[in-house]
Amino acid sequence: MDIEKEKCQFCGRPAKNFQFCAFICERDECAERAMQERGGPAGHIKAKREAQERERASKE
Ligand SMILES: [Zn+2]
Repeated sequence: MDIEKEKCQFCGRPAKNFQFCAFICERDECAERAMQERGGPAGHIKAKREAQERERASKE
């Protein structure tokens, strides 16, 4: 993967990193936005737990 050819998904500058399923530049605010869109460092785990809780609540 050639990151240098990609653009930051948030500000359009040349991307420097691929993190949280997004191309981002080196700015902290873009890394933070990518992380928030992803739902935080453990976003997939959190989403799974919330889905399980919803399911449990609907059965009660
Ligand atoms: Zn950026």
